[in-house]
Amino acid sequence: MVSRDNLLTWINLLQQVYAENKQYLTQLDSAIGDADHGINMDRGFTTAKAELEKVGEQDISATLKTVAMSLIRTVGGASGPLYGTFFMRASAVCANKGELNAADVVALFEAGLEGVLQRGKAELNDKTMVDAQRPALEAMKQALAEGADLTTILQRGVVAAEQGMQNTIPLQAKKGRASYLGERSIGHQDPGATSSYLMLKAAADTWS
Ligand code: ADP
Ligand code: MG
Repeated sequence: MVSRDNLLTWINLLQQVYAENKQYLTQLDSAIGDADHGINMDRGFTTAKAELEKVGEQDISATLKTVAMSLIRTVGGASGPLYGTFFMRASAVCANKGELNAADVVALFEAGLEGVLQRGKAELNDKTMVDAQRPALEAMKQALAEGADLTTILQRGVVAAEQGMQNTIPLQAKKGRASYLGERSIGHQDPGATSSYLMLKAAADTWS
């Protein structure tokens, strides 16, 4: 079970992970974008963490909403509204839940991805964050259907997200800033797929 405190631990870990990977994500974005993805994610989660400390105790749904608002307000770029929508949808699907069981956690990531798909209109293999999130969700849903526990579900999701992230390297970008490069986007790992992999890995590290 994931409690409100476990959720906060995840968000606080995300702040740390994006601070540690700020240069790495920015470096990936400098190859096929405008060299700000690490800066964006670091700023967003630093704000989210500070905001959560300021507002004090909130339930799971309200916590996710505070994260969403912080990201929408401070991240900018393409990824701000996309991750903002992810957390907003996650908040909605967790309404009135005091704790999250394995199915609830999968539902959180499913709602988040649906928001990203609706907002960004990217399909699989467009070389975006969807390429990490979608295979991860499929792996998690399958593990859930097999009756796996939360640890196994998240670990399978992480493996699929990492594979999806690496699969972006040979792809030509069809969405976002990288798509302006046409064929020159080939041969580089997508920054957003990388930040999405890191997001799921942090959840697995925290909730397993
Ligand atoms: P910007 O491209 O505006 O500078 P960021 O650098 O923060 O924003 O984020 C870039 C990432 O956003 C990309 O690597 C990609 O994964 C993701 N992205 C861009 N457009 C879309 C989209 N339409 N759908 C899903 N993800 C997208
Ligand atoms: Mg960028």
